[in-house]
This record gives sequence, C-alpha cells and structure tokens, in this order.
Amino acid sequence: MRHFLLMLALAAPVAADPLELYRWFHAHPELSKKETQTSQKLAQELKALGLEVEQGIGGTGLMAILRGQPGGPVVLYRADMDALPVQEATGLPYSSQVPGVMHACGHDLHMACAVAALGELARKRKQWKGTIVFVGQPAEELGNGAKGMLLDPRFQQVLHKAGGQPRLAFALHDNATLPVGQVSLNPGYVSANVDSVDIIVHGLGGHGAHPDTTVDPIVMGSEIVMSLQTIVSRRLKPGAQALVTVGKFAAGSKHNIIPPKAELALTVRSYDEKTRQRLLSEIRHISQNIAASYHAPKPPEVLHNEADFTPSLYNNPDWVRRLRPIFVKKLGEQNLIMQPASMGGEDFSEFSRRLKIPGVMFSLGAVDPALVKKGGPLPGLHSDKFAPAADTAIPLGAELVQACLLEALRDR
Ligand SMILES: [Zn+2]
Ligand SMILES: [Zn+2]
Repeated sequence: MRHFLLMLALAAPVAADPLELYRWFHAHPELSKKETQTSQKLAQELKALGLEVEQGIGGTGLMAILRGQPGGPVVLYRADMDALPVQEATGLPYSSQVPGVMHACGHDLHMACAVAALGELARKRKQWKGTIVFVGQPAEELGNGAKGMLLDPRFQQVLHKAGGQPRLAFALHDNATLPVGQVSLNPGYVSANVDSVDIIVHGLGGHGAHPDTTVDPIVMGSEIVMSLQTIVSRRLKPGAQALVTVGKFAAGSKHNIIPPKAELALTVRSYDEKTRQRLLSEIRHISQNIAASYHAPKPPEVLHNEADFTPSLYNNPDWVRRLRPIFVKKLGEQNLIMQPASMGGEDFSEFSRRLKIPGVMFSLGAVDPALVKKGGPLPGLHSDKFAPAADTAIPLGAELVQACLLEALRDR
C-alpha cells in the first residue's frame, strides 16, 4: 500500500502548498518582460491542477482555462507576475536571491492566491457551471504587459477556445496600508490615466558671464516647471482630479556655461479622458508660449507617445454591488473600507478597455494587524522593506477570489 501511494505521488504532479509557492516566487523575482522562470513555475502549478495552459502570449504571459460544468459564462481572472529593481532589505529567510530585484509590489502574493483559489475551484468543478480564463500577466510595472498580451492574436484564440468573450475581468492587488482582514472595494475610478511627456527646451548656449548673448534654457525650463503647476490649480475646475509631476530636469555641465538645451520628463495623471486631453494640450501650450516669450531659436519639442499610455482603472459599479455582499459576509461591514482612488497606475484596466467588458479589482489588506495596531509608518508598496503577512493574507485572498469567481459565474 505504501509502495502504491508512493508511486501515485510520483506519477501525479501535485500542486505546491500556496505559502511555499509564495516563498519560492519571492525568492526568485524577475523583472518586467523577463518573467521566464516565474511563468514556467506558474504554468507547471496550473497544469498540476488540471488547467489547460497556453504559454508565451505577449512575451512571457500565460493563459489557463479552468472548465466547470458545461454551459455558463466565461470569466477572466488576472494575476501579474513581475518584480521590481529594488534591493530587498526585509531580512526574511526567503528573501530575494537575485541582487537588486525584489517582489516589492506583492505580485508574488497575487500568484499564490491565484493558484490556491484555482486549485480549490478545480476540486469543486462539478459544483459550478462555466469557464474561468486565468491570465498570468507580465510587465505590469511597465504599464504595458496587459496590452502586449491583448495585442497577441493568440489571446483571442484562447478566449475562443474557452468559450468566447468574458462577462467580467477580475483581479486583486495587495494593500500595504490595510491589515489582513480588511479589504477596499470601490465603485468607479480606482487608479489613474498615466501619460509620460518629455519636453526638450531649445536655447542658445554660451558663456555664463554673457547671458545677453544666449537664450538660457535653464531659466526657460524653470519657468515651464512652475507654470505647469498652474494647470491643475488654475486651469482646471476646482476639485478636478489630476496632477502633473516633473520627475526629471536635466541641463548643463559646468558653473559658467549656459547650455544649449534642457530636458524635462513628466508624469501626467487624471481619471477621465476629457481632463487627460486638457492636461496634454495645456502642457504643449505653456511650453511653446514660454519659449516664444524668450525668443527661443526654435520651439520646444513636446513629446508624448500614445503607445506608452496606461488607462485609468474603473470598477464597474453594478459588479461591485453584486460582489460586495461576499466581502461583508466574510469580513463584516466594518472591514470593507472605501479608500479614495489612487493616482497610481494599473494596467489591469486594459482588459476591460480593450475587450469592452466590465472590470473589478479589489484591494486586499496584507499587513500584519499587530503592525498596524502599533502605529507608525508602514513600508509601502515598492519599498525595500515591504513584507506582507503572507501566511494569513494568501488563504483569505484565495477564499475571497474563489467566492467572487463563483458569484461571477452564477447566472442571473
Ligand atoms: Zn507596483
Ligand atoms: Zn502591483
């Protein structure tokens, strides 16, 4: 008998314990677009659960089909896979083994929750109707991994094989401010439109002692930086939600040289399309007019690449209303927090935008409750000390995901 069981264990691939799997992902982080081992490991785990796995979609992306009973809808569920260029400083025994690379955004936790939830749903597949299409997404931190997958023709082929257009795109993100046991789930905007703009200000270089013979791009650039700050405060309606941050201002080489040009790099954020377009046109308007007022030898280059745009994430209010009772039942009303929308970016939005389907992402409290109680600053997402309470957050996250997917598969 023992011999037989041993043979059985060797023959049938057995999915890893989700916490062990989390620790493996955490110790083996990979940067955006390089998630080869991660994707391979995830594929192996999902195959062990009996899912039909397709790899290499939009780079390192994978899709996996989990079929319940025939009939019923298709639901898309996504987890992201990439890590960040951060040197880990948590001191955890399962810390990153890759110098300068760390799962500091919790995408390792998202994958572990997914495997745990899908494993449970696979075991219960006789009890539900429909199909789950799981998406293991690369390059979320670049804001273009989802788009890369959606533009790969194989994405549609897998959807077709699964049974067609999903009725909902669903995901979670861990939250570095809420304790395990609390969740934030808001209807409406959750994360922002993210645009990048580069401005090259052209002046006329010369001697620092003879500014009258030059057109100083540093002075022009400085004036542009200050005027950009009037877009949100003076040019948009009070209360409009938007921001313009100049993250880079590069010019010059030496104390006594006026350089020929200055370069600015901006991140520009909003929620709705109208505000977004207004921001972009005001940036152009301000830059060109300030340069003209200094008699710049040529107009500044204002470079904006639509291809680099990450759209805002909008939680479909009808679906939020439908899923809300699941969280209330499990956690209690008081533990369902309405956190304000973030100006961060999240390209999970691409699935609803490009497939024209509703989307919902919830935010899973992942901090050790004792740490929250203690007060004081908590390491945020992308911090080198971010260490979620994975042992409690993963089973809870998996349970919530499972319940939400079952509700999304249920017909009304
Ligand atoms: Zn992140
Ligand atoms: Zn993230």
